Amino acid sequence: LVTYYLDHAATTPVRSVAIETMTKLLADGLGNPSGAHRLARAATRVLDDARENMADALGAQPGEVVFTAGGTEADNLALFGVLEASGGVAVCSAIEHHAVIDPVEHRGGRVVAVNPDGQIDLEALAEALGADVSIVSVMLANNETGILQPLAAIADLVREHAPNAALHTDAVQAFSWIDLAEVAQVADMISVSAHKFGGPPGVGALVVRAGTPMAAQIRGGGQERGRRSGTQNVPGIAAMVAAATEMVAEREHEVARVGSLRDRLADGLRAQVSGVVESGVGADADRSTKTANVCHVCIENIESEALLFLLEKDDVLASAAASCSSGAMEPSHVLAAMGYSRELAFGSLRLSLGYPSTDDDIDAVLAALPPAVERLRECS
Ligand code: PLP
Repeated sequence: LVTYYLDHAATTPVRSVAIETMTKLLADGLGNPSGAHRLARAATRVLDDARENMADALGAQPGEVVFTAGGTEADNLALFGVLEASGGVAVCSAIEHHAVIDPVEHRGGRVVAVNPDGQIDLEALAEALGADVSIVSVMLANNETGILQPLAAIADLVREHAPNAALHTDAVQAFSWIDLAEVAQVADMISVSAHKFGGPPGVGALVVRAGTPMAAQIRGGGQERGRRSGTQNVPGIAAMVAAATEMVAEREHEVARVGSLRDRLADGLRAQVSGVVESGVGADADRSTKTANVCHVCIENIESEALLFLLEKDDVLASAAASCSSGAMEPSHVLAAMGYSRELAFGSLRLSLGYPSTDDDIDAVLAALPPAVERLRECS
């Protein structure tokens, strides 16, 4: 069965190199890396290698990498960990993933508005900052729209107006498309998640730069230098790092290749369907503030749930927005924060590409989507 998978922002297929790495380690059998005998030491070596390579890919020191069970845990550890260690107030943008915004709201933090272009309102951010702020969390790339945040400008404001704050960035959606070793150098903490770049789900990492105060949120055996207890998922971590290494080596080429596929898709939709509003992109079709892989549009007078149903009949798999909120009939908080009306937000469609995407995927969408929209408009 041929399917055209355009939901790589939700999760992307596990890379062969990651499957091979993981299955070999599972089959060979390793000891517990906390132990002392031969098999335990073998596991420690695998873990040490993985940590070194992950640190390289993230522009960090090996000792600054904390392995977690995914992006949600990395985000929670950053926020609750700093708040517990330092007290104070958390600040985040209004378009963060729930893994960030929910912890911030849970602790009575400040949520900063974004502009209609999807980027944070820097004046509002400056106003929200102060000596009482202990952590500022702004994502690098948004999971619904692919819109990037100006992290360097954000870091400058944080250093000036919130000198006691750690700067955290959720780079879960960015890592495949942006060189974090360069762009996220300004951040004290960085979250990534393996299943977004071809590693297995349920594995991730948090960079915690030396000197950043953070209290453990999972206590026990003291693994990960006491920052995250629990026997490490060595096969999963090694598989994540194998995927990351391959992804980083291919990234420059893939940004150009996937970016031109995305442009053909977005330009095609705008030309063939009326009432298409492409998020963060104006009439000039300048997509320089977006990751290379996301085409996010709102289609006027359409409910995307119905559109997704018709697209799936043509074997095109996509999503309304973030996978956790699609299905629930609440418009996305991201689009609400960008000032979209409820009606327009209900027509939201995210077509996200990944390393396996080809021209065939684009052709399939451009063939299926215009008649589906026409049909739905006729029915209503
Ligand atoms: N942050 C962002 C921006 C995401 O897109 C996701 C994934 O949906 C997460 C965090 C959560 O990561 P995970 O699925 O590994 O828990």
